[in-house]
Amino acid sequence: MTRVTRTVIVRSIKLPRKVFKIFVELEGMYRNMVEQLVMYAVRNGIKSFTRLKALKYREMRGLYLQLPSHYVYTACQDASTRAKSFLRLKRLGLVEKEYPEVRRISIWLDDHLWKPNGYTSIRITTHRGWITIEFEPHKQYWRYVNRGWRLVNEAKVKLDKRNRQLIIYLTFVKDIEEYKPRGHLSIDVNEDNVTMLIDSTVYLFETNMEKLVLGYYYRRKKIQKKYDKLYGKKSRIKKKVLSKLKERMKKQDIKWKIANIIVKTAYEKGYAVVLEKLGKRVANNMVKRIRDKQLRHRIFQASFRGIQKAIEEKAKEYGVPIIYVNPKNTSKLCPIHNVPITYSNGSRIGRCSKGSEIWHRDVVACWNLFFKALWGNGSIASSPVGYNLDVRLVPLALNTTHDPIGIPKSLWVRWKSLEATLNNPNLQGMTL
Ligand SMILES: [Zn+2]
Repeated sequence: MTRVTRTVIVRSIKLPRKVFKIFVELEGMYRNMVEQLVMYAVRNGIKSFTRLKALKYREMRGLYLQLPSHYVYTACQDASTRAKSFLRLKRLGLVEKEYPEVRRISIWLDDHLWKPNGYTSIRITTHRGWITIEFEPHKQYWRYVNRGWRLVNEAKVKLDKRNRQLIIYLTFVKDIEEYKPRGHLSIDVNEDNVTMLIDSTVYLFETNMEKLVLGYYYRRKKIQKKYDKLYGKKSRIKKKVLSKLKERMKKQDIKWKIANIIVKTAYEKGYAVVLEKLGKRVANNMVKRIRDKQLRHRIFQASFRGIQKAIEEKAKEYGVPIIYVNPKNTSKLCPIHNVPITYSNGSRIGRCSKGSEIWHRDVVACWNLFFKALWGNGSIASSPVGYNLDVRLVPLALNTTHDPIGIPKSLWVRWKSLEATLNNPNLQGMTL
């Protein structure tokens, strides 16, 4: 059983000026408390919430008698979390300042400070008593409510001063049991694509992650150079232009969409997902032609680690089991003859040194991951000409070219499932 946690963000309706003002006051007091507590905690090297509370509760309570007392608790929690991460960064020499800046603030609420009120409103206690806040539920919110997720009694609230709205962070949890898999679906993640083997068919989803990361890297550099020259190194306008590059969002979008397709496909079939076990060395091997260390790290994070993490997260939600296998030689050995495949310089297409059949590198990897998972020992013991699954023998044909079905990004990102993607008329007759 795994406990899965998800945060859902909802917005309140536009609040009357009078009501919103109460929250502005509340936020002000809460901010003051957090600021003082963070200063104190950092100065005295306190990282624990209980310690901070024990030392400062009485004093804070005395200062803010008009507030419900639990705001002191949550401010202590908030402050100790901030102090802890600041002290950690300080120890690593990553910050120069003496104290952390409390810039963005969201008000932490525990079970004494707020209550759900039906499905579309909550009640929050303030220095002016309990206030009911209606919010605008959306599709995602209803999905959690209707699928048996439980609301956690901690929440956070942020103020949107421009629109006079509260942004409410609700947390849902669900205990999910992994099912016993009836088969395997193997995934090979690369810089530019994600390849999936299911029921003897290989699909290659183009992601262009490497190009995306590189593209943004060069654009970033160009902007930096231009603005540094014009306005100096620390200009605000440069920051603004840079923040407009939606790199993070784009990467996230790709990750979650591909993870969704994979996990849902596995879930519908009752299969387990087979992934490579990623090590540190793998990172270097996979993108070793890129010399810049930071850039290499970013490509690795975006394409390999990031996509795997997204698959893992999604899989938890659906109870899909994940099997990790040793990635050693997965794209080097022929899945049929267990001998090396020869790839001529840099090509992704190779020829088996025994049977002379043609292989696509990513297809090879998927088959080998699949067999490793099937035999459970992470090694290829004998020559697997045909394998037994569901009592039915599926032969690996010798004479066909082992080509994946290529699916361009422009296509799959718009569809939610493999089936919908494959049914798209634009895919018919498409090759790599
Ligand atoms: Zn072969």
